[in-house]
Amino acid sequence: MFNNRSRIKELLTSDKTNYQTTVMGWVRTFRNNQFIALNDGSTNNNLQVVVALGSLDETTIKRITTGACIKAVGEIIPSLGKGQKVELIANSVEILGDSDAEKFPLQPKKHSLEFLREIAHLRFRTNTFGAIFRVRHALAFAVHEFFNKKNFVYLHTPIITASDAEGAGEMFKVTTLPLDGTAPKNEDGSINFKDDFFGRSTNLTVSGQLEGELAAMAFSDIYTFGPTFRAENSNTARHLAEFWMIEPEMAFSDLEDNMNIAEEFIKYIIKYAMDNNREDLEFLSQRLEEEEKSKPQNERSEMGLIEKLEFVVNNDFERITYTEAIDILRESNHNKKKKFQYLINEWGIDLQSEHERYLVEKHFKKPVILTNYPKDIKAFYMRQNDDGKTVAAMDILAPGIGEIVGGSQREERLDKLTQRMNEMHIPTEELDWYLDTRRFGACPHAGFGLGFERMVLFVTGMGNIRDVIPFPRYPKSASF
Ligand code: ATP
Ligand code: MN
Repeated sequence: MFNNRSRIKELLTSDKTNYQTTVMGWVRTFRNNQFIALNDGSTNNNLQVVVALGSLDETTIKRITTGACIKAVGEIIPSLGKGQKVELIANSVEILGDSDAEKFPLQPKKHSLEFLREIAHLRFRTNTFGAIFRVRHALAFAVHEFFNKKNFVYLHTPIITASDAEGAGEMFKVTTLPLDGTAPKNEDGSINFKDDFFGRSTNLTVSGQLEGELAAMAFSDIYTFGPTFRAENSNTARHLAEFWMIEPEMAFSDLEDNMNIAEEFIKYIIKYAMDNNREDLEFLSQRLEEEEKSKPQNERSEMGLIEKLEFVVNNDFERITYTEAIDILRESNHNKKKKFQYLINEWGIDLQSEHERYLVEKHFKKPVILTNYPKDIKAFYMRQNDDGKTVAAMDILAPGIGEIVGGSQREERLDKLTQRMNEMHIPTEELDWYLDTRRFGACPHAGFGLGFERMVLFVTGMGNIRDVIPFPRYPKSASF
């Protein structure tokens, strides 16, 4: 058996000393031909491995370079140096994988996030990305824990779909037809998908919601957690072409139930990360503080990262209607002084990210749930309110991010739903399977979608969504 090693995190957090053990990991630095800072990814803290003078031959010493992978066997002793409780005095060091110091792109110094994005295959080996992806893992685990405790069924919805109806965003086509112009055509010149793999036109999914609703009409409560795709040319720090979404769908629920569970859910997963990834969050908090030093005073955040997370967990989200939000925005000095790029004049417009952030960061200074949007800027399946103008939608806006959740109570009344679909030119024949839920045992139900990366952005305090997914896909970029 090869893998009889101790994890560095366990060694560093235990008070036990004076015993033999084996560690394996990657060399971060090697000082004075004697002190190895070793990291195995279990924590950002390195184990100091001390090579006893004269115990290693010259060639092995030369091969202990930044990035190299080694196995060290020796005794754990109380550390003489500052900053760590224990260290390992190595009797033997074996090189598992060399790393040419001249060529290894990660030097023991600070690299820019932009540079690290270009070497995303190696950036896991930095402190920042080590912390980010351990936190991402914790959040993902907490998602499943939260819903499992509430007896939700985890539903795997399809990634390839034929339905193009939701209009959540531009879709990526999935096809095996030739792209050289020889694909079969209809009389009108359009592609004839009858000969395509699925015998019809197919896309990568933008959301698992419609399928999720079908299952909620049997299990009561379900959630999805999977990749979704948007082929929109959104070159922002909040949009990816491939991102993960969590979409719970609850039978016997109205808009208020929906808001309650969404708020409880967000608080739960943040709390989970705070309880289980304290060290990583403290590291990220410090990173953010450093980064903010280079910003002008008025752009710095008022709270530190951990303070902000605690605040969100311990305070109620503000709940207001779209109409109230429009009034606040219209009357704001920001609007009057024309500081918005898109000025707020009339009821009915879609809110831009600058408006969302104004409400959250300047006006309420806490997460905000906006409800009851105009029906014309929302999807066909949202439940129509009695005023004839608005739907039972809710978006949750988070500081520094803007929209993090989009959800609604669903329209369960068949006649209202089909009428809306006709108004919006959504073909009812294609969604006949969806309409069946309204034909056979419909009930009030609701759900929402949380963009997982936006959540990870929020919790890690990072500024760009491309830095919180291992291998980001965005316009003109799909490396690795
Ligand atoms: P936005 O207005 O920010 O583009 P949206 O209205 O298109 O968002 P929805 O279709 O409601 O978003 O999707 C639900 C959630 O998925 C959003 O609240 C957000 O958290 C996340 N999300 C949407 N688009 C993206 C994207 N391109 N990259 C990452 N996350 C996204
Ligand atoms: Mn969008």
